[in-house]
Amino acid sequence: MLVTSSIDELRSWLRERRSGRRIGFVPTMGALHDGHMALVEKAQDLSDDVVMSIFVNPTQFGPKEDLSRYPRPIEEDLRRCREAGVAAVFTPQPADMYLDEQLFGFTIAKLADYLCGPSRPGHFEGVVQVVNKLFNIVEPDIAVFGQKDFQQFRILERMVEEFNHGVQMVMHPTVRESDGLAMSSRNRYLSAEERGIASRIHQTLVELETDLRSNPHVQPALAAARDKLQQAGFKIDYIYVVSNHDLQPLETAEGNCVAACAVYLGTTRLIDNRIIDMPATESV
Ligand code: AMP
Repeated sequence: MLVTSSIDELRSWLRERRSGRRIGFVPTMGALHDGHMALVEKAQDLSDDVVMSIFVNPTQFGPKEDLSRYPRPIEEDLRRCREAGVAAVFTPQPADMYLDEQLFGFTIAKLADYLCGPSRPGHFEGVVQVVNKLFNIVEPDIAVFGQKDFQQFRILERMVEEFNHGVQMVMHPTVRESDGLAMSSRNRYLSAEERGIASRIHQTLVELETDLRSNPHVQPALAAARDKLQQAGFKIDYIYVVSNHDLQPLETAEGNCVAACAVYLGTTRLIDNRIIDMPATESV
């Protein structure tokens, strides 16, 4: 397995490897769990050689977020990659990725207007900036991302289309712990007590779907979900039902929708979502 922090070394490895072989790519911030490894397996199914990047990208963290304490167990991560048959791991440092001064930037219309966009100003611009760079470096045939970061997927999918990256974007379903909690590198911040409560997020989204199926009006269903989350001890950042297509909030759940929330347990921010296929309204 190639392990390198050098863009040039990765590029020359890819040049030699590439002839006729499909490159699959799984970008991550490390602290790997079974969710990340499921993306690797999916990428292996769809390509010949899988490249993973492990990079805690500073430009997607806000000034008050957890950049400095984000877990970085690199040796353990590399062991998991070796065992899984990853062909190359790209482990750059910020100085390998960024010049001292950035003269260019991205703005994102519409797709970042709701959900995590307003609560994490600059976050998706940082994600787009780094994935744009990573796609230019790796030039993958396919890239696999998790449904857990659903808004990120929609934004990157649009970036690929709008900037002609020619990468096939694949979304893998969220991998969960046995009690339903979405796996996340941030789950390790939770105390034992918080971990006991955390599975209520998924449960609440499942119940939200049941409520919408009996009454598709979104507001009463969201009010019930908010109550449940608050009673369980969460501080709610947001909870929405949006269109799966353009991520705009819906008043009535119809067609392909996504229920998504971000909540705090103590200082830990957790996100989850659930894709809900409702019947389309009949046009009369
Ligand atoms: P991260 O390391 O958190 O930036 O995540 C890297 C990739 O793994 C992203 O595409 C995430 O959506 C995906 N991912 C994270 N957690 C999960 C999960 N529980 N199930 C599936 N994919 C996940």
